[in-house]
Amino acid sequence: MRSSPTTGPDAETIARAARTLRGGGLVAFPTETVYGLGARADATTAIARLYAVKGRPAANPLIVHVASVDAALRLAPFEARARDLAAAFWPGPLTLVLPRFPASEVVPTVSAGLPSLAVRVPSHPVALALLTKVDLPIAAPSANRSGRVSPTRAEHVKAQLGERVDAILDAGASAIGLESTVVSLLGADAAILREGAIERAAIERVIGPLRAAAPGPAHAPGMGQSHYAPTRKLRLNAEAPRPGEAFLGFGPGAPNEALNLSPSGDLAEAAANLYASLIALDRPEYEAIAVMPIPEHGLGVAINDRLRRAAAPRGDGA
Ligand code: AMP
Ligand code: MG
Repeated sequence: MRSSPTTGPDAETIARAARTLRGGGLVAFPTETVYGLGARADATTAIARLYAVKGRPAANPLIVHVASVDAALRLAPFEARARDLAAAFWPGPLTLVLPRFPASEVVPTVSAGLPSLAVRVPSHPVALALLTKVDLPIAAPSANRSGRVSPTRAEHVKAQLGERVDAILDAGASAIGLESTVVSLLGADAAILREGAIERAAIERVIGPLRAAAPGPAHAPGMGQSHYAPTRKLRLNAEAPRPGEAFLGFGPGAPNEALNLSPSGDLAEAAANLYASLIALDRPEYEAIAVMPIPEHGLGVAINDRLRRAAAPRGDGA
């Protein structure tokens, strides 16, 4: 599942997608983490349509994507820690939550009315080419219906959003397969708001100790409820399937016939396969999906965060 065609959209297709974005349209595009659904961050109507197409609660803010550190510097004040993190990890799967310039052209609904802004420079060549061509800040949440499994392939976007988006750029499977790590630099203490593709230790090597995660369920807007969820229920830390269950293995101890996130026990491979595996097993013949334990270190921290949210009680199904 990790191998993917290296072919992507040609320059003309990217230029057309950039024109669609400039015109206020919605374009799904590949990033190294998952596929994003882009809209102009400076256009109220485009952002309203983005929330509507995703079914995203208005209180859950969006990440703004730009092509370069210079473009990001125009959106928010970068203090020393922000500059150091940008230098270390951009382009790449790190999102910084910063104060926003009050005069920023980014419309307030992008940040769900908060006085802050989440920003990142992705490293995927197609994402960078598109952002360079469009030359505007682009809000781009994951290109899935709110609360559902994030797409790591163009087919996943098509299945979830289909005709509701104006274009989908297809560049095969996302290499990382997990969302960016979201770091807040709003207070004196930096904090991780969402575990992700960059490990806590790597961030601490650049800016020193991070504040411990808040004990409550929701420490970032929209992070408290069920999320990343397939239609079928998930059973975590399963050693073997029960009757009627699909089984998702990890490592050499998994049954041979089971779908395996990584037969060798490699966490990066497991991350890359996670969402596509959940989508593949989300089939009517199964009552639930049982998932083997994933070690809680390195990328396993973010994988387990996603699995716990996918297994959480569904509530309003958002
Ligand atoms: P996604 O929809 O997958 O792109 O997720 C975006 C994540 O970034 C969510 O967890 C949001 O809560 C978080 N986020 C975006 N903007 C902000 C912000 N201004 N303050 C705190 N978290 C944010
Ligand atoms: Mg998402």
